[in-house]
Amino acid sequence: MDYKKYITLVNDWPKEGIEFKDITTLMDNGKAFKSAVDEIVTYADQLNIDLVVGPEARGFIIGCPVSYALEVGFAPVRKEGKLPREVIKVDYGLEYGKDILTIHKDAIKPGQRVLITDDLLATGGTIEATINLVEQLGGIVAGCAFLIELSYLHGREKLQGYDVLTLMEY
Ligand code: AMP
Repeated sequence: MDYKKYITLVNDWPKEGIEFKDITTLMDNGKAFKSAVDEIVTYADQLNIDLVVGPEARGFIIGCPVSYALEVGFAPVRKEGKLPREVIKVDYGLEYGKDILTIHKDAIKPGQRVLITDDLLATGGTIEATINLVEQLGGIVAGCAFLIELSYLHGREKLQGYDVLTLMEY
C-alpha cells in the first residue's frame, strides 16, 4: 500500500525548520492503519517475539495493536516521572530536544526477545535509548519496526547489527 498519501506534512512544527510527519491522518483511515499494523505483525511473526516495547507516545499507537495481534505483552517506555514503580533510566537526544526515558525495572525478563516499535526513525536517538533500556534489563532486541524513516537524518547508522523494518522513507 502507498502509505505516504495518508501522512500529512506539517511545516515548521513543533519548531521552525522541522517538517513534522503527522501520522494521525493514517490512523484516521481504518484500512491503511490496519494494513500498516499487519505488515509489522507479518515481519514480527518470523522473529519469535516475547514482548513489544514502545516509547511514548506514538510508539504505543503502533506497538499496542502489534502486541495484541502477536498475543504477547506490551511494555511502555516513558519520560521521567511518568511510571509509578521502580524504573531504570537513560539520557537521550532528539531531532528537537533532549530528555530522559525510563522503563519499569521488572518489565523485561532476561533473555526475552523484544520488538521495539515507534512511528518514526529520525536521528535514531529515541530508538538507541530504548535499545539501551531493553539491553540493560537483559532483553534481546530481535527487531525494530517504524512506519517512517527520515533517511536524511541517518538514524539507521545507530542501528547497525539490528534488524529494522520501515514502511515509508523520506
Ligand atoms: P529520533 O530520536 O531523532 O529518531 O526521533 C524520533 C522520535 O521523535 C519519534 O518518536 C518521532 O515520533 C519523533 N519525531 C522526530 N522527528 C519527527 C518528525 N520530523 N515528524 C514527526 N515525528 C518526529
